[in-house]
Amino acid sequence: MKVLRKTYEDQNCSIARALETIGERWTLLILRDAFLGTRRFDDFQKSLVIARNVLTVRLKSLVDAGMLERRRYQERPERYEYRLTQRGIDLWPVLFTLMKFGDKHVAEGDAMPPTLVTHRACGTQIDDHMCCPACGVQVGAHDVVARRGEELPAAAAPAASASPRAAA
Ligand SMILES: [Zn+2]
Repeated sequence: MKVLRKTYEDQNCSIARALETIGERWTLLILRDAFLGTRRFDDFQKSLVIARNVLTVRLKSLVDAGMLERRRYQERPERYEYRLTQRGIDLWPVLFTLMKFGDKHVAEGDAMPPTLVTHRACGTQIDDHMCCPACGVQVGAHDVVARRGEELPAAAAPAASASPRAAA
């Protein structure tokens, strides 16, 4: 009888090989937070409510896999932050599609999707094909702003008076 193997490294399949790097739940959630702008250990920890030792291991594996880069931002005491590399950024369409799948099939019936992704240039929510319907262009990871839905109570309605800078 065949035993299900623990790793798929010897399979000649790019999906199987990619899952060797990103197939672990925390790994994808760390990357999700990185796309939302999280960079520091404590902020990942707070957001994910993950054990510190698990977070340490996961961050290291993402650095080793070339998805995140560890950069020193303070000397005394030494402190590091984690930035997405180009390889990490290349996962953006995967995470976006996963999010859209969740919106459609898991978060069904919610008043607002948990995360809203808008075009940085114009603020319009991007569509399922990663295009801005207002500008008619395809948008990449650098061109979007992702925010949690609950941070945007006014987002469901057209922003008329919500901006604190409106009076300036
Ligand atoms: Zn736009």
